[in-house]
Amino acid sequence: MTKYADFYRRSLDDRDAFWREQAGLIDWNTPPRQICDYSNPPFARWYLGGTTNLCHNAVDRHLKDRPNQTALICVSTETCTEKTYSFRELHAEVQRTAAMLRELGVRKGDRVLIYMPMIAQAAFTMLACARIGAIHSVVFGGFASASVASRIDDAAPKLIVSADAGSRGGKVVEYKPLLDEAIRLSKHKPDAVLLVDRGLSAMNVIADRDHLWGALRQKHLDAVVPCEWLESNDISYTIYTSGTTGNPKGVQRDTGGYAVALAASMKYIFGGKAGETYFSTSDIGWVVGHSYIVYGPLIAGMATIMYEGLPTRGLDGESNPGIWWQLVEKYKITQLFSAPTAVRVLKKHDPVYLKKYDISSLKTLYLAGEPLDEPTAQWISDALGVPVIDNYWQTETGWPILTIANGVEKAPSKFGSPGIAMYGYDVKLLNESTGEELRGVGEKGVVAIEGPLPPGCMQTVWRDDARFVKTYWETVPGKMVYSTFDWGIRDKDGYFFILGRTDDVINVAGHRLGTREIEETISSHPNIAEVAVVGVADPLKGQVAMAFAVPRDAASVSDDRARLQLEGEVMKLVEQRLGAIARPARVRFVTLLPKTRSGKLLRRAIQAVCEDRNPGDLSSMDDPSALRQITDLVTANR
Ligand code: ATP
Ligand code: MG
Repeated sequence: MTKYADFYRRSLDDRDAFWREQAGLIDWNTPPRQICDYSNPPFARWYLGGTTNLCHNAVDRHLKDRPNQTALICVSTETCTEKTYSFRELHAEVQRTAAMLRELGVRKGDRVLIYMPMIAQAAFTMLACARIGAIHSVVFGGFASASVASRIDDAAPKLIVSADAGSRGGKVVEYKPLLDEAIRLSKHKPDAVLLVDRGLSAMNVIADRDHLWGALRQKHLDAVVPCEWLESNDISYTIYTSGTTGNPKGVQRDTGGYAVALAASMKYIFGGKAGETYFSTSDIGWVVGHSYIVYGPLIAGMATIMYEGLPTRGLDGESNPGIWWQLVEKYKITQLFSAPTAVRVLKKHDPVYLKKYDISSLKTLYLAGEPLDEPTAQWISDALGVPVIDNYWQTETGWPILTIANGVEKAPSKFGSPGIAMYGYDVKLLNESTGEELRGVGEKGVVAIEGPLPPGCMQTVWRDDARFVKTYWETVPGKMVYSTFDWGIRDKDGYFFILGRTDDVINVAGHRLGTREIEETISSHPNIAEVAVVGVADPLKGQVAMAFAVPRDAASVSDDRARLQLEGEVMKLVEQRLGAIARPARVRFVTLLPKTRSGKLLRRAIQAVCEDRNPGDLSSMDDPSALRQITDLVTANR
């Protein structure tokens, strides 16, 4: 067996010994008494009796060996500012913040809702919560009042931490009025609100409830707040899934298992070493921001970058699609973690921006969050000349399910595949209607994980164990197994290919087709930048495929003849590759596709519009004009 195959087998066959060993990657105040308790499936409890603290492992632990090394680098191309904090400075700020939280009445187990832009205080607050055992619930800063209100009601926070405003593309986005409205809408009312005044917009401060960060911090400059030793299964945080397919689910995570899982992933998957610099372009509102902006890199003793801004604006606020590469040069970034959607944005710009900077420090680019299509992977990998590694996971799991563990054994990537099953995950492909395991090469099934889920994965749905069991563990007939709700196949080398979400399958005249396969084919047309395919009800065929595509060259579809010509080419391509049955009924051209704020295609909303149904909860949608374009096209042709 190869080294990784052996490593993987041991993680499953000798589970407790394997994870006992990984537990040594973090500091414990009391070592765990038991490694895994799975006596009440599907609820797994890791490292029972062990006491530890995420903030200790991310910050305090490094004070001995690297107090003056950079820990946090905050860059904003919105306010044109850069600031760095050493581990010692971070330690001081986190203690000040912890003292502020305490003064505002926050105790162990209390929830703190964080509704903040990508500023240092957001990281301080997360770490301070972890320090005193409060449960943070970060809500993406781009959400509007109604979405914030529903999350306030779910989390029932004692305190909300926010700011006067964020900024996007140079435009100030006022948070305070949105927050006030959210608190007005919510049934639960927080005792206090703590506000960072960035000086971007005037705030209406509400007496007895609102407190200003700057003034309160001043009172606690010398604060010494020791870490609270938490039992491994104490809750560290809750976070909502992206809401791509339905109502967001409140994912609840533990403390010890999560710390170990992150430490292990930094070593085996991301190859992050103390003293190096990690840059994840995500947002603290998403799981990637929790695992790989704040906790993971810091646990590994790395410097981590928090970036506020678009991938196309420079440090002077002017247009610069080379900003990331400039940051790579400036901060000697070693690992860059982003999403395919961001790379597609950069791909629209002149590749010369990539050549302007010295990016020789960069070792690897990691991409995750949505399918990485081959042309995008090829383009960025040619342009950078470093390995591009896809990784597949979910908010629920907290760290990659499928990727390559180069830290265990170097393995090649295969374009189109996120990789192989990671240690700890007993990944299977199951027949969706019989639950039977599919072992054959190229057999398509639901990607499922046999319990227990490894450390770091969700404990349950916050305050709703029944929903956890019902949503994730009872969808495959006759078997209690965790469903990812994604389709996959596996090749002879054990590499998985994700074919889309289980609810993205369409049924045309009795044939089941994955919309993802059709999208892949369409986006291989040289003039198609991006495409969404949905199944639309059809009286004759059950469903037909409908495609909405963004042409690379907008001028190429400026008139009806040109549009028909490109539509014909696209249809022909699908027919040749996948057969006539997969050919979309129509290919329509738009300038923008509806996506979640995290950059995922909102196919369910497109489908609803096409079928003249209410698109439902659109709180996670980014730019509403994208869906309007589709609505206009569809209604004009109805
Ligand atoms: P919701 O569960 O609320 O509908 P969501 O599934 O979009 O939202 P996330 O947890 O952010 O919420 O996304 C995880 C999903 O993203 C995966 O289940 C998969 O569909 C997709 N995904 C993530 N990474 C990859 C990848 N590397 N390749 C293909 N798909 C990916
Ligand atoms: Mg999901």
